[in-house]
Amino acid sequence: MYRLSCIHCGAEYAPGEIIYTCPKCGHLLTVEYDLNTISVTRDEWDRRPLSVWRYRELLPVTIKPVSLQEGGTPLYHLERLGEELGLPHLYAKHEGMNPTGSFKDRGMTVGVSMALQLGMKSVACASTGNTSASLAAYAAKGGVPAVVLLPAGKVALGKVAQALMHGAKVIAIRDNFDRALELVRELCIKHGIYLLNSVNPYRLEGQKTIAFEAVDQLGDVPDRFVLPVGNAGNISAAYKGLRELEGLGFIDRLPMMTGIQAAGSQPVVQAVRGSLPEVVPQTNPETVATAIRIGAPVNAEKALTAIRATGGTAAAVTDEEILSMQRDLARKEGIGVEPASAASVAGIKKLVEEGAIDRDERIVCVVTGHLLKDPETVIKQCPSPIEIEATEQALLSVLHL
Ligand SMILES: *Cc1c(COP(=O)(O)O)cnc(C)c1O
Ligand SMILES: [Zn+2]
Repeated sequence: MYRLSCIHCGAEYAPGEIIYTCPKCGHLLTVEYDLNTISVTRDEWDRRPLSVWRYRELLPVTIKPVSLQEGGTPLYHLERLGEELGLPHLYAKHEGMNPTGSFKDRGMTVGVSMALQLGMKSVACASTGNTSASLAAYAAKGGVPAVVLLPAGKVALGKVAQALMHGAKVIAIRDNFDRALELVRELCIKHGIYLLNSVNPYRLEGQKTIAFEAVDQLGDVPDRFVLPVGNAGNISAAYKGLRELEGLGFIDRLPMMTGIQAAGSQPVVQAVRGSLPEVVPQTNPETVATAIRIGAPVNAEKALTAIRATGGTAAAVTDEEILSMQRDLARKEGIGVEPASAASVAGIKKLVEEGAIDRDERIVCVVTGHLLKDPETVIKQCPSPIEIEATEQALLSVLHL
């Protein structure tokens, strides 16, 4: 049993209404369950495979879901990096291990399933890349046509390749992500297409399972939960999910929700650090971490609540710090991620340097997307392969043997 409710004025709406914000006040909607009608036990969950659908009692889908077996991603103990940073309990949840290589799959398995459940005939999104890759794949699996709007020239190669190959109609607009989102919202509302950006409250339902899995894998609530923040949907979703676990009595405290942004695109950080009542949009966001190159985060209101209500914090990291951590994760831990994903761990490094973190904390950093998403940024940072004549002598010579 659930309904849609407005996070601002509290107005309630039937779950079948095709709305993305509150028709009365324009603020964000959330999916609210009657937790006392949910009778599942933790043991029951534990008996199912680790995946988004392990937690189906806390998801809105009642039909057979459109699934590519998303979730169940590894939680790695970062032993080497943790030792360097003086953090013995530092973990990374590798969301790049999802079917299309990012956590967006958790949202899309639920979002595309809801599109079918609600009888919608087509789906659309604006995207910095991963949302489009994921929507294209799930729309293919669900048999619905998909339209995706991208900021022209600002999407990593692997992501465009995925959206095209999975058969979405891919449109590049000559402006940034924020404008693409405005356009697609209008399009969807006027033409009855189902909008699957993170303003869609059902999509976030899938994404909250990152936090559920992390708690199950760690066997406890982490002290701190760290995410890179773009549109701020993921950090909001994780917080919402954890509140539900608390409401069910499955956990008894919440982690400090910690959001990391790029220095060139940090409206949430500025609001948190400046104790502003709300996020002030930034007009020309810029960063190598294209997945979080967003100046007007749609879920800002939810994210500020998540961070403030848990005593969390936010920090900004430079592109240099992001790329340096991308290399460290790859070379010291064997974990290959795209730049935005490295931001969470780079942010922890920064907070340690600021003295803002207790070294005994159990910290889960979400690393959000796979290395192969953005091969161009990788190639730019690494030396070229050493090309030689095909002789033993040439081989020994380059190896200095
Ligand atoms: C979408 C995305 C983010 C940002 O998530 P939000 O929910 O928009 O804050 C971060 N990293 C990657 C790789 C992403 O694809
Ligand atoms: Zn309202």
